[in-house]
Amino acid sequence: MFETLTAAPPDKILNLSVLYKADPRPEKMDLGVGVYKDASGATVIMKAVREAEKRLYDSQSTKTYVGMGGDEGFNKGILKMVFGDNADLSRMFACQTAGGSGALRTIADLLKRAKPDATVWLSDPTWANHAPILKAANLPTATYPYFDAASGAVKFDAMLEGLKAAKPGDVILLHGCCHNPTGANLRLAQWEKVAALLVERNLFPFIDLAYQGFGDGLEEDCAPVRLLATKVPEMAIATSCSKNFSVYRDRVGAVILLGKDAESVKIAGSQALTVTRVLYSMPPDHAAAAVRIILEDDALHANWKAELEDMRLRMLNLRKGFADALRRQSNSDRFDFIADHRGMFSRLGLTEAQVDRLRDEYGIYMVGDSRFNVAGLKEDRLEELAKAVVSVL
Ligand code: PMP
Repeated sequence: MFETLTAAPPDKILNLSVLYKADPRPEKMDLGVGVYKDASGATVIMKAVREAEKRLYDSQSTKTYVGMGGDEGFNKGILKMVFGDNADLSRMFACQTAGGSGALRTIADLLKRAKPDATVWLSDPTWANHAPILKAANLPTATYPYFDAASGAVKFDAMLEGLKAAKPGDVILLHGCCHNPTGANLRLAQWEKVAALLVERNLFPFIDLAYQGFGDGLEEDCAPVRLLATKVPEMAIATSCSKNFSVYRDRVGAVILLGKDAESVKIAGSQALTVTRVLYSMPPDHAAAAVRIILEDDALHANWKAELEDMRLRMLNLRKGFADALRRQSNSDRFDFIADHRGMFSRLGLTEAQVDRLRDEYGIYMVGDSRFNVAGLKEDRLEELAKAVVSVL
């Protein structure tokens, strides 16, 4: 049986971690793997999550199955987190999933059932797992122009033009905020234009919302999805709690569906649940229960928001500090885009050979496309890093 297989290629980003760990140089810098890190380089458990876990430990009396859609309190809390406390949830459905990845795959399978001939359009570039997840669901993909490497900005006109090649009923995958890997995001006025195009051409928005709270703020980061919800008849959103609750390994996210009316979204939701049933039967409970406890308790909710806001502001400061250092070291505004970007990543715009040199000569690790993790930057080493970057240009 297994003799028919050849070894799968190693995951580039995870492989980078292996190399980093094996590097004996004390001054090495890990800007590769996409997890939030604090100033000491640790990915800590958030205090609110710790407290919620304690309460869970004290109150949980059984480990029996929760149900196909997971924790209903969690699902309601996530809907409010994304659409606001006073949102009309009558055309919406949510179910808890195994991480944002589980949500992406569930939506992909659901779309395949709903419209087998749909093509899913991805931004060029996009998160490395999008295309493989869609492929696993047998959905064809195509790309639309997105990132202008020279300026570090979104090529908005080209994006709109590119999207016009999509046929009615096609699916457009958009990053709700904090685009990964580029860090370049649409402004709200541009989202308005995208929404108009989606409606005019009968295209279906599929939003990946993996970094809510990491960009302009917890509410602000949802302005695009909230805007879309007022314009488009239907939409699917894959959310993740991995980053904003820092519960990566516990695997919690959600599928959110917006339907034309209450009846149609109920039907779509029932199909989504039969998708997860065959994928993994039921989502893991632990972190979802902790998130639910946080979202339902005013004091804990406020603590979590404050902690998340500290993380966001730290990344913004690092962005600004790094852009300033690069401006000094390069004597140019070439890297100013880093301060304008939002989220955990930006791309420096280096060649793969330059990225290799940073690793070999300085022990600075980033992904081959020069994507770096902003949270991996060190406040007191920005100048040194900028100098190294400029030296390989
Ligand atoms: N979407 C994007 C854009 C991501 O960057 C990630 C994580 N790196 C995910 C989805 C999935 O996150 P998870 O499955 O860990 O919740």
